[in-house]
Amino acid sequence: MLNLKTPDVTWIMDSLYVEKQESLQPVLEELKSLNYTIKDAFKEDKKGRSRNEYEKNGYYLWYASLDVPRYGKCGTCQEYISTGGIRTHNHTCEKCGAITYKEVIDGSYARFEFVEENDAMFTYKLQMKAYLWDSENLYLYPELDKEGRFLVYNQKDGEDYLSKHSDKWSYTELDGKTWIKIHYKRDWERDPEAVISMSEITSHYCNHSIVKLWDGKEYGEWDKVPVPESIIIYEAWHFTPLPRSAKLHERILSAAGMISDQGWYHQDGRREFLPVHFERMRIFVDRFTEIPVQEWDKTVRRFRVDGPGGIADIARFCYSKPDIANKPNIGNTLSALGKELEGKHLTEKEIYEAKRGLEDDAW
Ligand SMILES: [Zn+2]
Repeated sequence: MLNLKTPDVTWIMDSLYVEKQESLQPVLEELKSLNYTIKDAFKEDKKGRSRNEYEKNGYYLWYASLDVPRYGKCGTCQEYISTGGIRTHNHTCEKCGAITYKEVIDGSYARFEFVEENDAMFTYKLQMKAYLWDSENLYLYPELDKEGRFLVYNQKDGEDYLSKHSDKWSYTELDGKTWIKIHYKRDWERDPEAVISMSEITSHYCNHSIVKLWDGKEYGEWDKVPVPESIIIYEAWHFTPLPRSAKLHERILSAAGMISDQGWYHQDGRREFLPVHFERMRIFVDRFTEIPVQEWDKTVRRFRVDGPGGIADIARFCYSKPDIANKPNIGNTLSALGKELEGKHLTEKEIYEAKRGLEDDAW
């Protein structure tokens, strides 16, 4: 979070709510002075919505982003290098010449199928141990693993599959051993001579990292720098204070970074709401709704902390007859199936949601 000098602005996570119109230009100027690039979200609207719609519905109107420079870091010489191509097979460090990445090493597994006319969606794949890849050809160990796996041929069927496609590979000698050699290029998806379609290669050699440099300090690729890299900015005076309504909880939950659909969460009562979520929601209730925050403080201790329960409690706190989203979710079906396979007990609610998940559109 940034400590801004402009008054009448409120942070919730990386969202900035500008509470008074007279603070808008000063805060945008202040962010620019801190090297943020500001974009007008309304001008970039692709759906033809009016500015009035944005203001009344409380969509964010500005977007600020900070360009934090990223560098590669060579695992051998530890120097900062360009990120371009750093993760392509046999790429070398421009400072010391060490290889930064190998897609295939001796012992990698390649899972693929031969390219055929009639491509079905779920087909068995061949899984073979690789020896090396010279960016033109894959050299594979000629033996197959005995056991198949889910959608992977076992040894016998794999050998049949190989002989059916014997025009697409050959035996070859290299380093005193015999290998199966198959044409396979880096951009195989655009290669007109491609004979296999690759699903996955496991085990790579990685001799680099990606780092961010900020204020003279190094951060990991996925680490957060101490300031937000992107900020969503609301003109809160157009749409607040929000009155009690059947959907008010959705606004409060989403401001706290929570999904407001009960079906989205695990149905086994596990904790989903953390103290930090309640803190964020409290700020929103206090600053942006007509509900007195004392009421929140009195009630919050009784709110359940699992997904569906917490949503129901917060929704009822906002309005006596709330409209709570509870969409069937295929994820609940899959999670219940997984638990059953592990021999774990399922609650009634879980079984119900698992069945309902089968109605999910995504299935
Ligand atoms: Zn190097």
